[in-house]
Amino acid sequence: MKKIILPIILLLVHLTLLSQTQIIAHRGYWNTPGSAQNSIVALKKADSIAIYGSELDVWMSSDGVPMVNHDDSIFFNGKKISVQDTDHKTLKSIKLSNGESMPTLKEYLKEFKKTKDLILIIELKKHRTKLQEDLLAKKTIKMVKALNLQHRVEYISFGLNLTTGLIHLNPKAKVYYLNGDLSPAVMKEIGAAGIDYHYSVIQKNPTWVKQAHDLGLKVNVWTVNKPAEIRRMLDLNVDFITTDEPLLVKELRQ
Ligand code: MG
Repeated sequence: MKKIILPIILLLVHLTLLSQTQIIAHRGYWNTPGSAQNSIVALKKADSIAIYGSELDVWMSSDGVPMVNHDDSIFFNGKKISVQDTDHKTLKSIKLSNGESMPTLKEYLKEFKKTKDLILIIELKKHRTKLQEDLLAKKTIKMVKALNLQHRVEYISFGLNLTTGLIHLNPKAKVYYLNGDLSPAVMKEIGAAGIDYHYSVIQKNPTWVKQAHDLGLKVNVWTVNKPAEIRRMLDLNVDFITTDEPLLVKELRQ
């Protein structure tokens, strides 16, 4: 009898871990000494705390180079400039708060390749024109493929054009939509992997979690940083929590 019980317990533990809500570090694990949002250090720190994934934001420079940064506007020599309107050399000369240079997506992906178990969640930002967005999606998918990272990269976007564009370019890619305005059924129809909405959207539509799961889709929520909200989302059984406080979510999950 004992011989049967132990494997059953191990299997149950394994299944519990698999169904546990996974943690994604928002803009990497930046909320810690020496790190900065969307920095290479933040990526490495995310890798060091044994979580599911690390997120980053991507814009395309005026000369067509995908760059890692959150906002479109950024200070350069005391003046606000737009990332979309600036060439990559100028952007690379801009220092992050931890002293690193603004990374290109290629540099970031090369560093990511050195990590072992982490998943990278690439957010493509909405650009001024469809042309820019289509080019950015194309370049990103190509770059990920060239580095043989397809199975370790997922995509997110607020833009429906970018979301459908990424799915079209790689139907096998896991692509999530961020804007919160479309139901799980619509996401299923366009071929998305699931919804990735602000937690307030899921609070207002808690049945979307089950709807998504019944359709075989995943549910991710952002950016959940406070204990009460983290607990609420864990109770709703979402698949992923994107957070600036990955260690806190880890603690509360236990
Ligand atoms: Mg983002």
